[in-house]
Amino acid sequence: MTVKENFRNINEKIKEACQHSGRSPEDITVLAVTKYVGIDRAQEAVDCGITNLAENRKEGLLEKQEAIHDDRVIWHLIGTLQTRKVKDVVNRIDYFHALDRLKLAKEINKRMTAGKLKCFVEVNISGEETKHGLKKEELDSFIDALKDFEHIQIVGLMTMAPNTADSGLIRNVFRELRVCRDRIKNRGLDYAPCTELSMGMSHDFPIAVEEGATFIRIGTALVGNDLKGS
Ligand SMILES: *Cc1c(COP(=O)(O)O)cnc(C)c1O
Repeated sequence: MTVKENFRNINEKIKEACQHSGRSPEDITVLAVTKYVGIDRAQEAVDCGITNLAENRKEGLLEKQEAIHDDRVIWHLIGTLQTRKVKDVVNRIDYFHALDRLKLAKEINKRMTAGKLKCFVEVNISGEETKHGLKKEELDSFIDALKDFEHIQIVGLMTMAPNTADSGLIRNVFRELRVCRDRIKNRGLDYAPCTELSMGMSHDFPIAVEEGATFIRIGTALVGNDLKGS
């Protein structure tokens, strides 16, 4: 399937999910997660007008950036970042979706040369040990601790749902993230407007949209997965 065909199917599903939940498709940004594919397929996404590109590792991000020269592209790093790699990447991305510890925030703040990096705080709602992210009980004090970092803006929260066929469980995870988001948003902090929700991937994005996602991160279903031959 071409990226264009996949994108059309995904947009249909977004539209349906919006109808179910009284939302508007314009409020949802689709990120093309290109970590499983090569430069050609990433370029194909851009040529379809998908200008938000996402990678989960620094190396993949730099590789795509070197090949794709297009001022329209908005670059997202969605995976966890080792502190020692911060300096190589923070001034080259528009959004970082996996802020999950103070040490990382400190390093980002130190290495940013100008402006503010738009960050999502990653929350491990499901509590699985294999997942990154803060526990939801730790979230509020973490947000408090970010207040003096002039180069960081908390635009929202991010989570990954458990890999399960139980859609009720997935829905609860997304719903809980939204509750956390609303709580922080309602604090009215200038450094943490926290209006956005980064949640939903290939297999669960319709549920995420129904539960309020504003950024959905789609790899396999949009650009494919060379490792799986899809
Ligand atoms: C790989 C990845 C995705 C996309 O996964 P698909 O299931 O291929 O859509 C989304 N978010 C993060 C953090 C990822 O690492």
